[in-house]
Amino acid sequence: MRRVEVNALLLSRFQTMLMKTIDDFSFEGQRALIRVDFNVPLKDGKITDDTRIQATIPTIQKILKDGGSVVLMSHLGRPKGEVKPEFSLSQIVEHLSNVLNVSVKFAANCIGDDAESLSSSLKPGEVLLLENLRYHAGEESGDSSFARALATHGDIYVNDAFGTAHRAHASTAVIAQFFEGKKAFGYVMGNEIVNVDKVLHSDDRPITAIVGGAKVSSKIDIITNLMDRVDHLIIGGGMAYTFLKAQGGKVGNSLVEEDKLDLANELLAKADEKNVVFHLPVDSLNADNFAADANTNLSAADAVEDGWMGLDVGPESIAKYAEVIGKSKTILWNGPLGVFEFEAFSKGTREVGLAIADATSKGAFSLVGGGDSVAAVKQFNLADKVSYVSTGGGAMLEYLEGKSLPGIQAILD
Ligand code: AMP
Repeated sequence: MRRVEVNALLLSRFQTMLMKTIDDFSFEGQRALIRVDFNVPLKDGKITDDTRIQATIPTIQKILKDGGSVVLMSHLGRPKGEVKPEFSLSQIVEHLSNVLNVSVKFAANCIGDDAESLSSSLKPGEVLLLENLRYHAGEESGDSSFARALATHGDIYVNDAFGTAHRAHASTAVIAQFFEGKKAFGYVMGNEIVNVDKVLHSDDRPITAIVGGAKVSSKIDIITNLMDRVDHLIIGGGMAYTFLKAQGGKVGNSLVEEDKLDLANELLAKADEKNVVFHLPVDSLNADNFAADANTNLSAADAVEDGWMGLDVGPESIAKYAEVIGKSKTILWNGPLGVFEFEAFSKGTREVGLAIADATSKGAFSLVGGGDSVAAVKQFNLADKVSYVSTGGGAMLEYLEGKSLPGIQAILD
């Protein structure tokens, strides 16, 4: 077991060193087929948040500047293999044209004669967007003839969609086999990989991971993977109460996964064995019901009264956590420390975010990754005060779990 873990660690280090990015290619006279993540939120046909589009602009611009042309492919929503107008990528053509300052062409089907004629006649500096990949069931099933049909659109394949890197879909993984020696990561992918690897393989100690969120069950693999890498593991959020109860504490009506109590104790024992300091909350801010305006009381974290539920870490825990974070040189944060969506229970998450920002200003490297903690840093205006905010969502979580992601592997193979 131990040997496999070490090998995976070494392999991943080499992967980062060996990975090919678009900077390793000149795209002059070449058509780049780029898998992007344009799965943007839309309301009444209008884009409400274009962060994902903006993120890929440097990749597209580098290729155009080299003298290449660009074919973009993406999914949007979940049409599940059927043509549904509300999921059409035609809705983003105008916005993309404005952002790029290039008149973007559009292929109303991502494969077929019309699309091929458009992509094969592209001139340097031109951009073509293909219609939603998920209008074809072959995308999600990883169908290789669908992937082969897509591959006709480009000379070099670029994957810049980290958000779907954990899926073995036709456009994210299967297609790479048709571009032997001509495949690369775009800047979005490259940045995500380099920055997470910076944390996962850091020698800059102490290394501290803060893991919060609702449930232990969704974070078991992350905690287990981090156990081999970090010096301190700080636990917050709903999942803390499963650990506290497993240790014999009284947690009242707090969120507890009864079937994970043994596992919680196993994780605590493992931390001990690996000399990882496992920090659980010492005090708890409790509510008499799950509501923004609930009555509150403060108790020791292992003495929550019946009828009360812990919705945030208390001030002593915050101070203790901030002290550990302040001494850390490498910091990873995944998951909120409490129900930060309710102002009354947002203090733990906000103060931990501020402590990470403070440590970063003093030279620590900090990475925030995975769903709700990313929302929290945005909510508290801390996004530009940490070293890196991952946009990866589920893909980032799987990467932190130590899994090999098909979208990354396909480029490296
Ligand atoms: P996750 O997606 O597992 O990272 O969980 C994020 C969610 O956990 C957020 O919506 C939080 O409101 C919720 N959460 C955090 N702390 C608690 C808590 N003590 N009790 C219940 N839910 C919580």
